[in-house]
Amino acid sequence: MDRVRPSAPQLAGLEPYDPKYLPARTLLSANENPLDVDARLRGEIMREVGALSFNRYPDPLANDLRDLIAQANGLAREQVLVGNGGDELLFNLALAWGGPGRTMLNLPPTFSVYAANARLTNTAVADVPRLPDFSADEDAVLARVAQGGIDYAVVTSPNNPTGNLAGEAFLERLLDATDALVVVDEAYFEFSGVTMAGALARHRNLCVLRTFSKAYSLAGVRMGYVLASAEVVRELVKVRQPYSVDAVSQAIARVVYANRAAFEAGVARIVSERERLFGGLGKLPGMTVFPSAANYLLVRMDAAAAPAPAPAGDAERAGRAWQWLYGRGVLVRDFSRTPLLEGCLRVSVGTPEENDALLAALRDFALNGE
Ligand code: PMP
Repeated sequence: MDRVRPSAPQLAGLEPYDPKYLPARTLLSANENPLDVDARLRGEIMREVGALSFNRYPDPLANDLRDLIAQANGLAREQVLVGNGGDELLFNLALAWGGPGRTMLNLPPTFSVYAANARLTNTAVADVPRLPDFSADEDAVLARVAQGGIDYAVVTSPNNPTGNLAGEAFLERLLDATDALVVVDEAYFEFSGVTMAGALARHRNLCVLRTFSKAYSLAGVRMGYVLASAEVVRELVKVRQPYSVDAVSQAIARVVYANRAAFEAGVARIVSERERLFGGLGKLPGMTVFPSAANYLLVRMDAAAAPAPAPAGDAERAGRAWQWLYGRGVLVRDFSRTPLLEGCLRVSVGTPEENDALLAALRDFALNGE
């Protein structure tokens, strides 16, 4: 045949997710941990991996890892599910709680994967845009759920890419106001120390999402998990790919999770570097930096406030700042064409040297790059 039938209609015009990765000396675009797993743990990982039978299928549910996570959170194994990164679990959530005739509540600007998954699964999206300071429009969210018809909601805390936390009182009210599944995406929880996991005992409609990609330095391994009620986990198990979490990833994650205390110093360093970077960026002319509880900062290039007001708009100035940084070996993420994020770049917190490189290059841009 010299032709092929069109793919499913929901794919028409869909752009695949693009992390916009480019090679660079200083990688500050993907909110990764700048520090890799240390040599001692790598040794332990290699021994665990060396003991695996590669010819055998892995434990589909990774029960040993589930048990470690459950125990640490005071939950039963049945309340934990691991996935091939948080991304896979987000897709599973869309498969299990979305679908034709169903609706997800979204709070843009936020992680774009939620809306993409909704589209792939023919789920309608009810957007309640965030306020200018990026906090959730709490009254509007509660009004929307009161209208009915919401099957699941995703609230990111800290939100990506804006960095702010969702209010605990607001989340409690939301969980009380609806029987929709409320997914609280805590991918950056370890940097904020703020979690809704303590509310699981009170709310059967709560699902907390976490990842090993950030605080635990395992972005390359692909491991995420959810904490939820057993009935929510049961539904997710129905849609998941049975062997999506391979034996090697399970072994690596078991070692890392059992030794998670070893990552605390690195997390504390990133948090203190975040505050130093926040102070440094805040002093640069023509830029607004937003407070963050995560391992990244959102910076708005304010064209009107530039030392010599640039004729171009905020988005264009941000584009030029991105180019300027990339030309100096620093890769950051350009969000300047995302609605409500006009003029914004997101910078991940790196090592002190990487942050110095970013600050120096941005200072140079602010003073000489117009
Ligand atoms: N949620 C949010 C808010 C994120 O930023 C990310 C990573 N970019 C994820 C979930 C998924 O992370 P991973 O698939 O690496 O576990």
